Amino acid sequence: MDRDADVIISGAGPAGTMAAYHLQKSGFSTLILEKSTFPRYKVCGAGLTHKILSLFPFDINPVIHTTVHSFRFSSGFADVFTRSSELPLMYCTMRDELDAYLLDKALEAGARVMTSEKVSSVEQDSDGIHVRTGKGEYRALYLIGADGASSLVARTFGLNKHIEWGMAWEAEVRSTTEMIDRYKDTVFLDWGSFPGGYAWIFPKKDHFSIGIGGPAHMARRMPGYYADFIAGCGIPVVETISNRSHPLPVRTRAATFHSGRVLVTGDAAGLTDALTGEGIYWAVKSGIIASDVLKDRMEGKISDLAAFSLRINAEIIPEMMEAVNISALFNTLPLKIHHWVRNSDRVWKAFGKVLRGERSFADVPLAFGKWRFLWKPVCLLASVISKQKEKQFMRHA
Ligand SMILES: Cc1cc2nc3c(=O)[nH]c(=O)nc-3n(C[C@H](O)[C@H](O)[C@H](O)COP(=O)(O)OP(=O)(O)OC[C@H]3O[C@@H](n4cnc5c(N)ncnc54)[C@H](O)[C@@H]3O)c2cc1C
Repeated sequence: MDRDADVIISGAGPAGTMAAYHLQKSGFSTLILEKSTFPRYKVCGAGLTHKILSLFPFDINPVIHTTVHSFRFSSGFADVFTRSSELPLMYCTMRDELDAYLLDKALEAGARVMTSEKVSSVEQDSDGIHVRTGKGEYRALYLIGADGASSLVARTFGLNKHIEWGMAWEAEVRSTTEMIDRYKDTVFLDWGSFPGGYAWIFPKKDHFSIGIGGPAHMARRMPGYYADFIAGCGIPVVETISNRSHPLPVRTRAATFHSGRVLVTGDAAGLTDALTGEGIYWAVKSGIIASDVLKDRMEGKISDLAAFSLRINAEIIPEMMEAVNISALFNTLPLKIHHWVRNSDRVWKAFGKVLRGERSFADVPLAFGKWRFLWKPVCLLASVISKQKEKQFMRHA
């Protein structure tokens, strides 16, 4: 079969570019088809937890705006406290910069990219993959769907089942120089007053990204919560540069992430977590796993791509499932947990360790020692209570 590349990648977000980077480094050719022109704005808080650094084989400092050492917590805009860490917890960037930087790394590694090429249909047969865009047709041996939350690739191959939907809303906001300077290493987090969701402020070099997220069925309450948050957070808004919402695909159980010659990664696979909405780390990680598995397949070490689903289910889904559990527990006892974070050094340090990748969500049940056998039933009960709270909250809308 004549082909344009060994692997076509639909989408140049972090999942797609990191898959391309690693495939190129392993000697396989890639063609990235991206519907936008780069750099492009992306609705995203663009907060990177420290653990992501271990996934990049290069320095991402050139696109880091701020390094976060402190969290300013509030619950319902009250009961405010700040906790700090000597070690960095998070980094804030802007997605137009981060994604263009990662794309450059893929290009330097030899990837081809065609922007303003929206993939409109994909087919596979025993010879390979056939991709159409508004401008042309392309062929390859394999296809990676890295085309985000509304993934055409996932829909085409039925890989979008069992995804729960969140919604997040985000604004880029200018404030005073004094505020930008004062809070340049601080993330604001308001939790506990919007069931299943929270509000955040991420500091950027010359503005703040302010957002809220929660279950999609509660989206109509978000504008009110956002307005209250802006009024109560203590950051004066000088100008709102943009203000948009976007879906968050949340995977809550094991699934199939491949179909024949096709894999889905990142948001296309539903890999944002239910607790924080973090997705960039999982996009990069799943892109790397996709490149590993395709490399093994093209070197003839494995006979199909089932290893991809196995690895996502073993290396990512357990964290997604614990995120659901912790989120349910948090929704049931928000004030208790708020106070634990304030009063217990152990809990605050554990929070930091999760952000730094020294601990994971899967370690949380272990903290309950001999009582950890109760973790699953308690979380199950919490999820019932949590759903009830969401319903009540919506009834009072
Ligand atoms: C408001 C909000 C705030 C968030 N904040 C954070 C945060 O602070 N930290 C964090 O870790 N995560 C955050 N997330 C989640 C994060 O944005 C995503 O999980 C992440 O972008 C997923 O990366 P990706 O590469 O899978 O997909 P994307 O980044 O969505 O990239 C997909 C790419 O595919 C392209 N594309 C789509 N369709 C086609 C097509 N048909 N043909 C060709 N190209 C196509 C798109 O243009 C895009 O460039 C947030 C999400 C939202 C909505």
